[in-house]
Amino acid sequence: MEIRKGIAVSPGMAMAEAIVLDAEDYRIPTRYVEENFVEREKELLERAVEHSIAELKLQRDKLASNYGGETSGILDFHVGILQDHKLRRELHDLILRKKCSAAYAVSRSFLALKRRFSNLKNTLFAQRVKDIQDIEKRLLQHLLGEEREDLEHLTKDVVLVAHDLPPSLCAGLDKTRVVGVVTDVGGLTSHTAILLRSLGMPAVIGLSDFTSHVSGGELVVVDGRRSLVIANPDLETIRRYESEIQRIHQFTDELVELKELPAETLDGLQVQLMGNIEFPYESEICLRQGASGIGLFRTEYLYIRAQTEPNEEEQYEAYTTTIKGMQGRTVTIRTMDLGADKYTQAKAFEPERNPFLGLRSIRYCLRNLDFFKRQLRAILRASVHGEIRIMFPLIINLMEFRQAKMALFDAMEDLEEMGLPFRKDIPIGIMVETPAAAIMCKEFVREVDFVSIGTNDLIQYTLAVDRSNERVAPLYTAAHPAVLRLLRDIIITAEKAGVDCSLCGEIAGEPVYTLLLLGLGLRQFSMASGDIPEIKKLIRSSRLTHARKVAREALKLETDRQVHNYLRDETRKLLPPEVI
Ligand code: PEP
Ligand code: MG
Repeated sequence: MEIRKGIAVSPGMAMAEAIVLDAEDYRIPTRYVEENFVEREKELLERAVEHSIAELKLQRDKLASNYGGETSGILDFHVGILQDHKLRRELHDLILRKKCSAAYAVSRSFLALKRRFSNLKNTLFAQRVKDIQDIEKRLLQHLLGEEREDLEHLTKDVVLVAHDLPPSLCAGLDKTRVVGVVTDVGGLTSHTAILLRSLGMPAVIGLSDFTSHVSGGELVVVDGRRSLVIANPDLETIRRYESEIQRIHQFTDELVELKELPAETLDGLQVQLMGNIEFPYESEICLRQGASGIGLFRTEYLYIRAQTEPNEEEQYEAYTTTIKGMQGRTVTIRTMDLGADKYTQAKAFEPERNPFLGLRSIRYCLRNLDFFKRQLRAILRASVHGEIRIMFPLIINLMEFRQAKMALFDAMEDLEEMGLPFRKDIPIGIMVETPAAAIMCKEFVREVDFVSIGTNDLIQYTLAVDRSNERVAPLYTAAHPAVLRLLRDIIITAEKAGVDCSLCGEIAGEPVYTLLLLGLGLRQFSMASGDIPEIKKLIRSSRLTHARKVAREALKLETDRQVHNYLRDETRKLLPPEVI
């Protein structure tokens, strides 16, 4: 049994056999072969070993002639491992005894080897794990060729274990089969995490080298409540998790019954709970969860999922489906926020040196006006089907907002010339997700119709902590007093100006922040739709007087630890322990 602590993306739990994607997305299938194919698998293995050795020797000689013996010595270690008789015997033995494929035997044996190396006290040896991984990858490349396994045609429930899971891959997951996800890298508000959360997928990320410690077919537990992942659980652990998973399902069923009830505090304050979505089909899920509208439609996913840029017609269809799906409730459409971690580097228009600070989001749109206006025309045309708002992301100054608005007016003129109908009364707003916009909120609220606070980025830029980097994840927190003060100022400024203010960062769906946000004066929350019932339950158990006191006290505290503990303790008074 191997237990690891990571970062929980959502509080769910799951238990199933693992499928493992390594850093290059190779899936190693658990594959057994018939008796008469055993010899063939052994031959395939030998061939792969011989090819790998030949390749390595060639590379070693090249390195030696260019850089000398010291560098090429690393490859001698690789050759040595592959020539090791004991390892070869072990591999043959596994194929013979288990009647499994050569690839599966390699993945099992190398897993054991990696474990042996990483348990060595000598750090120099422990570092060799990376080399072992390299050798394994080389062998698998020979055995599996360029073939990539298809995640869309799974035949049983699995926990997906991956080094990284780009948003594009994540978006295509078959939710009926993938019951949990575990990754080596990633932070709490990386877009992969956000997607997993919106899929309602139990997931724990940021586990550094977990992929080296688990093999396809092994049982894995994903425990989002305790931020744990367990490989090869013992019988007692399996029983315990079976009953916990069943209890959670019961609790979730009870929450859904709240759907028809208003999000109203015990002392009569009604708030709005809206959904964040990435795809049109999610509008139906939002309605099922009782959302009063869509507070954030991350339209960039239409681009991320497609191989090529969707044309105006395809975009129009996507927005129309969403708007009609919400049956008269407001849909806030955010213009493309591409960039940073929201495309793979391979798809990046131009690789960025510093992606989160680079030519992304509204900056990219304003530099590529044709591209931008195609989207704006599609949104405008879809506006005749219901209630929408248009929101611009990553705004840092008034000029950007004014330019974006001008692009919108240009798009309106285009449509007028073409004689196509659109609504002219669409509220136009911005995301407040940079310290610049937060500090200048007073100026912005004179020009915008609404603001939506994007805490995911606001935290990252205020604290200078990369939201998707697991190595700095403990520093990334909304409980930091600097973040609290910015939130207070934005909410008060918008309220004074009579401008609608919502919050669509992940903390809107985290129970620990609900009392604080209510107390600060927030009345519109937008979150992953799966979080709505739980937040509604919490709001229906709270009082505004209590929430105001919580906000006042939290603002007096000096450290994020104090703030977090205080908020957790106050929330625990209202919710059952399995939630927080
Ligand atoms: C945010 O930054 O808080 C936000 C909601 O936008 P995204 O997570 O898409 O960057
Ligand atoms: Mg953002």
